[in-house]
Amino acid sequence: MISIQYNLEKIIKKIYNISLLHNRNPKEIKILAVSKNKSINDILEAKSFGQIRFGENYVQESIEKIKMLKISHPNLEWHFIGPLQSNKSRLVAENFSWCQTIDRIHIAQRLNKQRPISLPPLNVLIQVNISNEDKKSGIIINDVFDMAKQIISLPNLKLRGLMAIPKIENDYNKQLNEYKRMVQIFKYLKLHFNHIDTISLGMSNDIEAAIVAGSTMLRIGTAIFGIRNNLK
Ligand SMILES: *Cc1c(COP(=O)(O)O)cnc(C)c1O
Repeated sequence: MISIQYNLEKIIKKIYNISLLHNRNPKEIKILAVSKNKSINDILEAKSFGQIRFGENYVQESIEKIKMLKISHPNLEWHFIGPLQSNKSRLVAENFSWCQTIDRIHIAQRLNKQRPISLPPLNVLIQVNISNEDKKSGIIINDVFDMAKQIISLPNLKLRGLMAIPKIENDYNKQLNEYKRMVQIFKYLKLHFNHIDTISLGMSNDIEAAIVAGSTMLRIGTAIFGIRNNLK
């Protein structure tokens, strides 16, 4: 029997302890609970222990959950973290507060056009292909600045920073070196643009390296909700 409360408390303690050891302010590190393949009940259980940020990968699945929870839990903050196809962009523009996987200006332009004016600007992160893996989504580091310049000209989007899904790497030092490169670009963006405050880096198995490198948002699924049965 997994306990979401127990898991959340354990992660909060872990973030706190690692932060103290490495001179980070734990308040600057947010937890995004990745709820893909997880039920409304699981989400509500996490919510009852104070978790308000949730990450979803699949448009259809997430829209159902968001619509069901919209009225009763309006303060939940939904982040889209999956690959986004153009024909699904409208659903993301209309239902999410954040989209973390911008890797084509075309998608950013669609989201900008489709964001309802009744809502605040959609917060977006540029997804970087940090490991330079061919098959991964994300743009290469050298293109980040140009992409950022184009995004900030779109009034219905608010560029907040960067996101990466590094390749699976169990060696701590290799993880750390890759993440540090990412944080360098993040700091560079911060110097040049307003509102840049988020670097979404770190998942269940690399929390420590991500915090030490400078992550401000950990995307955690398994360590909160348990193993996913990958039906989708
Ligand atoms: C599934 C997923 C996560 C969570 O991964 P865990 O290893 O379960 O913590 C984080 N980020 C993205 C983009 C994901 O797709």
